[in-house]
Parts: sequence; structure tokens; C-alpha cells
Amino acid sequence: MTTQASDRSSVLRDIHVLDGGMASELEQLGAQIDGPLWSAQVLEDTPEKIVAVHRAYIEAGAECILTASYQVTRMGYAEVGLASERADAALLRSVELARATAADYPQRRIVVAASLGPYGAALHNGAEYHGNYGCSFDELVYFHRQRIEVLAGASNAQAPDLLAFETLPSIEEARAIVEAIAPFDNLAAWFTFTCRDGETVAHGERIADCAAAVAQLPQTVAIGVNCTAPALIPALITELRKASNKPVVVYPNSGEGWDGANRCWTGSGDASGFGARAAQWIAAGAQIVGGCCRTRPAHIREVAAAVSRSA
Ligand SMILES: [Zn+2]
Repeated sequence: MTTQASDRSSVLRDIHVLDGGMASELEQLGAQIDGPLWSAQVLEDTPEKIVAVHRAYIEAGAECILTASYQVTRMGYAEVGLASERADAALLRSVELARATAADYPQRRIVVAASLGPYGAALHNGAEYHGNYGCSFDELVYFHRQRIEVLAGASNAQAPDLLAFETLPSIEEARAIVEAIAPFDNLAAWFTFTCRDGETVAHGERIADCAAAVAQLPQTVAIGVNCTAPALIPALITELRKASNKPVVVYPNSGEGWDGANRCWTGSGDASGFGARAAQWIAAGAQIVGGCCRTRPAHIREVAAAVSRSA
């Protein structure tokens, strides 16, 4: 890891603008992400499309970029008959692509965060949005420790600045990650939860309790919310700020909703509206703002403008 314990707390200093959605942007570039490996397939087949997405977000103003590794897990690879070594190599490759792209902008400090989806994301059945996995706590610890070990052992070119544990549905999974990462002193991590209302994560626990469960971990550099409706974000920021003094990171969805019956997105995901909301989230105390599903570089340009207006 490039992050040492001594500079862990400063890895996010002066960082305010996160990137936006990876999968939808890859689709815009014509990448096939509906196979069994989802966007992980692009890492293997057309990595230049991932570089193009990173570049688009950096040029939109992102100061932190998430790697294309959300669903890269040994468990997911094993399901389609692929060896664990191949999953590990894809995880490291995703960081290497992000690092190399960031290095093309030497005048800017770009933080590379390794995107690590929850156990449910590896199941490919939407289980991360309710968190009822039917597996034991120890299995969750084991699942997360596999990727943590790989990243902790990475060479500089493949080492992220921090590990982004995203779309977490439950306090149990947060506690499992705390247990998995605790032995790795030199790592930095953030924890972001997917929420169903202004104070509750998807599985039903209070976000304040989830934040408290991860705040004491020395590796924790930020706590927040992702993959959640933007309208819920102000209330969630209030809860997060009551629960800990860690920096708050929020990257909600565009504002469109998925209509399962008609298999389409509904509502407005308009970028300028997203920028106006970002200004409110910053005013409410969020340090880092970006976007999740259905957000695009236009949304991040609006976030960057809102950040500079608030400075
Ligand atoms: Zn999302």
C-alpha cells in the first residue's frame, strides 16, 4: 500500500469531488456488461473503455476515482468456473488502470479508491439491497478478507490509496469488514451504506449505529451513503454527523427510480438538479460528493461547480 499509518488520516484532505457511475458509462461506450462477470468482463476484454470512463470523470473534476472492481470477487469468478487467481489479477488490474490514468494528470492529486462491493453484489441477485444473505458472520469476514489481503499485498502500481466498501446493507456486514481489515494497520478504508429512508440502512438498522460500529476502527477515513435516492441524503448526513466526527462521503443515485414491473427507469436524473442538491449536501456537512447508479460526467461537473461555489 502507498498509504502508511502516519498519513492515513490525510488521504482525503482537500478531496471533495468523487466520480460517478461506472457501469452505465461503460454501456454508453458500447461495453457488454450483462454477462456473468458484469463490468468485470470489461477489465479482461476492453480495459481501454475503463480508462476512458476514468478520464471522463477526472476531466469533469473528480478528485477521487473508484476502480472498476465492484463485483470482482473469487466467489463470483468461481460461480462461472474461473480460478481465484484470475479474480485477484482482475482486482489488481483495476487499480493499475485507475492509477495509470490518474498519473496522466500530474498537476492534480487524484485519489484512487478500490471499489469493493458487498457480499450480495457477488451473488448477482440484488441481495445487497436487503442484506438477507443466509450466510454466517464468519463467511462474511472470510469473503471480505480475501480481497483485503490481495490489495494489502499489492505493489505500488497496483495499490489503491483507500478501500471503498460500498453499498453495505447491514450493520452485520460492516462489523464483518471491521474484523477482516483490523489486522491490516497500513490500510485506509471508507464505509458507505445503501439506505431505505432518512435514518435506516437497507437491512433495517439505524445508519447512526452502523456509523458508530465502524468509526472506532483506525483504518476508517470516511463514512457515508451510496446507491440511495438523493432525496434521502440530507437526513442521512444529519444522522452521520451525530454518530461520528469522521468525514462524510455521499454518492447517491441520479434520482431516477427503477420500475421493476415495466423494466425501465422513471423520474428525473437531470444533472443540473443534481448539482443543486450537491450544494445542499455540502452545506449540510458532506465533505465528499459524487454519484452512483445512472450518474454521468455531467453530474460530476455539476458537483465540482457546487464545490467551487461553496469554497
Ligand atoms: Zn448505485
